[in-house]
Amino acid sequence: MSLTADLLIHARWIVTVETDGEVLADHALAIRDGKIVAIVPPEGVAAVSAKETVRLPRHVLMPGLVNLHCHAAMTLLRGYADDLALMDWLQNHIWPAEGKHVSDEFVYDGTLIGMAEMIRSGTTTVNDMYFYNSAVARAGLAAGMRTFVGCSILEFPTNYGLNADDYINKGLKERDEFVGESMVTFTLAPHAPYTVSDATFRKVVTLAEQLDLPIHCHIHETQDEINGSLSEHQVRPLARLAALGLLSPRLVAAHMVHLNDEEIALAAHHGVSVAHNPTSNMKLASGIAPVQKLLAAGVNVGIGTDGAASNNKLDMLADTRMSALLAKVGTQDPTAVPAA
Ligand SMILES: [Zn+2]
Repeated sequence: MSLTADLLIHARWIVTVETDGEVLADHALAIRDGKIVAIVPPEGVAAVSAKETVRLPRHVLMPGLVNLHCHAAMTLLRGYADDLALMDWLQNHIWPAEGKHVSDEFVYDGTLIGMAEMIRSGTTTVNDMYFYNSAVARAGLAAGMRTFVGCSILEFPTNYGLNADDYINKGLKERDEFVGESMVTFTLAPHAPYTVSDATFRKVVTLAEQLDLPIHCHIHETQDEINGSLSEHQVRPLARLAALGLLSPRLVAAHMVHLNDEEIALAAHHGVSVAHNPTSNMKLASGIAPVQKLLAAGVNVGIGTDGAASNNKLDMLADTRMSALLAKVGTQDPTAVPAA
């Protein structure tokens, strides 16, 4: 059978990412009109007429990786304030450093450098969360990465915004600049339960529904966060967010390290996606997320690097490997979170 293609890519290995972990040797990928039309076995290659042929004799060809939780611009803070717990790290080191340095130019340059590192290790899509959102979007377009631009929302001032309303208004205004860009999607990113008020969370839910936007939030990252919520709100963060209407399929919950069985069921019931960040959780000693239990409950779990300051790399293959290893040591079960 003959086949015409615009581009034929011969690869030593093609990893199809089928559920059975299929790996094909010496096959070729045929592309026409920007779409994959066939994966051709070695004996069928002669029958393909292609306008352009690329040979990758030592490569793995596979779908692009999705970095589900990142602050790409923080690559410029890589290695800054190592070996600290989350709140000390944030309040006494990261936030003051950001106050000194973060600007539109910092974010554009940092995001572009971060994206170069991600592309090098096979990542083609990033779900980011930071400030100066149009700089993140411009960097994504320059790098050719599919970029989810999370507009951070906090109650307190930073270089970028004054208060929650200011972060929201600026973010939505920047979103308007990129309408029609298929590679750029803006999301609302209330930073975390301990930095965002009930009123702001309610506003985020309403706006997300009206504008059909995803929501990206750090949730249940540390035991401290849960203790703080219990003393301030008399409930654990996830219960508070559920009551505020935040839990839905539009939510990507980053971390979700400390969860009881009811909370795992709650996340599954509402169709929440979880961004698991194994290296960040290890570096900040946040804990071990119950990934195996989340998967067993039917929760959609993706992997993120988090920012370079809490990793210190943006390498999705490294974090995928870490996800499998951490789940095994955490459960003392070598079958937990298999390699594929
Ligand atoms: Zn983060």
